[in-house]
Amino acid sequence: MPAVLRVALPVPLPTLFDYLPPPAGEACVGARVLVPFGRGKQVGVVVAVDAEATVGRGRLKQALRLLDDEPLLDSELMQSLAWAADYWLGAPGEAYANALPLALREAKPLPAIGDEYWSLTDAGRSARDAGSRRGASRMLLDLLAAGALSAQELNERHPGWRVAARRLAGTGLLERSERPPLDRPLPPSFAPQLNDEQQQAVAAVGASLGQYQPFLLDGVTGSGKTEVYLALIEQVLAQGKQALLLVPEIGLAPQTVRRLRQRLGVIVEVLHSNLSEGDRARAWLRARAGTARVILGTRSAMFTPLPQAGLIIVDEEHDSAYKQQEGFRYHARDLALVRGRALDVPVVLGSGTPSLESLANAEAGRYRTLHLRARPGATRPPQVQIIDMRAQRLEHGMSPALLAAVADTVGRGEQALVFRNRRGYAPVLLCHACGWHADCPRCDRPLTLHAGRRQLICHHCDYRQRLPLVCPTCGAGDLKPQGQGTERLEEALTAQFPLLPVLRVDRETTRRRDAFEQLLATLKDDQPAILVGTQMLAKGHDLPNLTLVAIVGVDEGLHSVDFRASERLAQLVVQVAGRAGRARKPGRVVLQTHQPEHPLLRSLLAHGYAAAARELLAERQLIQLPPYSHQVLLRADAPQREHVDEFLAAAHAALPQGDQLQIAGPMPAPMPLRAGRHRGQLLLEAAHRRALHGMLRAWQLALTALPAARRVRWSLDVDPIDLY
Ligand code: ADP
Ligand code: ZN
Ligand code: ZN
Repeated sequence: MPAVLRVALPVPLPTLFDYLPPPAGEACVGARVLVPFGRGKQVGVVVAVDAEATVGRGRLKQALRLLDDEPLLDSELMQSLAWAADYWLGAPGEAYANALPLALREAKPLPAIGDEYWSLTDAGRSARDAGSRRGASRMLLDLLAAGALSAQELNERHPGWRVAARRLAGTGLLERSERPPLDRPLPPSFAPQLNDEQQQAVAAVGASLGQYQPFLLDGVTGSGKTEVYLALIEQVLAQGKQALLLVPEIGLAPQTVRRLRQRLGVIVEVLHSNLSEGDRARAWLRARAGTARVILGTRSAMFTPLPQAGLIIVDEEHDSAYKQQEGFRYHARDLALVRGRALDVPVVLGSGTPSLESLANAEAGRYRTLHLRARPGATRPPQVQIIDMRAQRLEHGMSPALLAAVADTVGRGEQALVFRNRRGYAPVLLCHACGWHADCPRCDRPLTLHAGRRQLICHHCDYRQRLPLVCPTCGAGDLKPQGQGTERLEEALTAQFPLLPVLRVDRETTRRRDAFEQLLATLKDDQPAILVGTQMLAKGHDLPNLTLVAIVGVDEGLHSVDFRASERLAQLVVQVAGRAGRARKPGRVVLQTHQPEHPLLRSLLAHGYAAAARELLAERQLIQLPPYSHQVLLRADAPQREHVDEFLAAAHAALPQGDQLQIAGPMPAPMPLRAGRHRGQLLLEAAHRRALHGMLRAWQLALTALPAARRVRWSLDVDPIDLY
């Protein structure tokens, strides 16, 4: 009988909790347990048994009930989670809460992991024969008349079937059942003959199966990275192992799932935060059971159990979506490497624009680099041209040369993408009479004009107000939108090209789950069209008839206060440019700027991303910025400025003495006010990670104990990827 159970609970406290074992059952590490907590109950994960109690046994409460007879989280996952919680300074319980789908954090038995099937009951058959139902009910009864169908099949044939199914089940006409998942082998589709570089990449990673080895697969969009992943996953499946493939966004998942399924002929389990909680829990449990062998997911899928792990792939590894920016601030790419090491499997990081962190790791010999330089489908890489827009007559921000390029393209019957990374109509609304402009009262930043909604919206805090008709200061009716967002470009291009479809793709036009896919599906054919959009358009989505990418403005990115802005800008420009000319037609890219001589743009366009990245890395090394130093950012905010200042001053004073740390601040955040809260920060830097991490836990505990901490909201961000 163990003395105590040490339990991780999903509460934001940096501690574990001790309980006496429950009345029945033998607790094991990795199992869930229901415990009393405060005035309620919580589901926790047993982290240790037999531990020495930190307080007298007499003061310990008893756990109520064991929820699992065997570990739900295996020892590798437990270890990796403990590592992650420690490294990113998470509360241990929060790390476990991130790993477990919500449905598994409830005190209920585990859901069955078979496939969900629906069929007619006898009553249902009679009702169908009697023809007494109409509409969706009728449709569903007809669909099921030939036999049971899985939820997945129903989703494909009749989205929205669930409402009718519930109604009919309620009256006893339908029944739901679970069956073990079938690996319905689809005939695997034909794989292209890999070119030399692809073969070398597959051979290199293939030779490392069964051991930990990170690879950086460096190849632009369209260079055939996915074909390399597919060939490797095939090998892994042949060995009876599991493969995990991470993509940065849900938007990229559907097309990748289709491609994986068609090629590999196995079920691809999908894990992302847009799934229903039940589906998510089932997918997670199937991975744990080993029945899911190919798992595709976004950031949080990095916490999937992989008892038969064979390979981990992180696609678009440079993407900042891999970093969680709230709560438990982990980085899924970095966690992939930790798990790869623990699981003894190779980790492939793929990107056409690798992060400077990964490039530095490759340079230091920690990663092996594999290059894909040839573009299998395309004739040649797109031609890039800078348009000097100084002193040009602009049409809603677009220069004559840019518009001419668009006209040329659509004139040939091809498609053009006009890129502007800014939603809305205009980023500023200005009074021409008195100089007033509309600012967010809660952030002190300009409000964005959204003309279609007749609103001014703050893109930082979502504050909204009606569009004023006259200037609130001087009463003049001369309010002028300044600058351009995608909405304005859409309007201007529609006016210029009235006979062509102009499609806008940004967060506003694609709010619905599948709207993005549908919008892009309309472009699959060979008709001329113009696409206007934000960075949503930068990735994935093969549009064979798209031959021009026109970049309207990137100048904001050239003078940001964030030292990572240049890296991001270079990545974005290259990714967007990569949309042009993916099929047999050659592509063209035009980029208009007021700073045609800017060194970053020059080197990017003359020598490509690799050269620009080398220069950026040299700069970082010179001034000792990451990846050549390590940072931790303490952020604090509160309704009152003084409370932030007091807390940060106390936090500063609580730092250990010594010359290992460079300290910047306390200082206001780059955005000192947001959503009505004052924001400040303290940045710690050290040349060596150990110097930093050695003191962090103690400091974090000291901060928790500060009286000033109670008046602010604060967080620690290890390896922050932005300083906002
Ligand atoms: P990436 O993942 O780097 O964007 P993909 O693997 O999607 O690139 O390849 C881009 C296109 O080229 C796809 O349509 C793919 O089927 C095709 N392709 C990739 N490799 C080859 C090859 N060796 N031979 C012929 N076509 C290929
Ligand atoms: Zn005015
Ligand atoms: Zn605001």
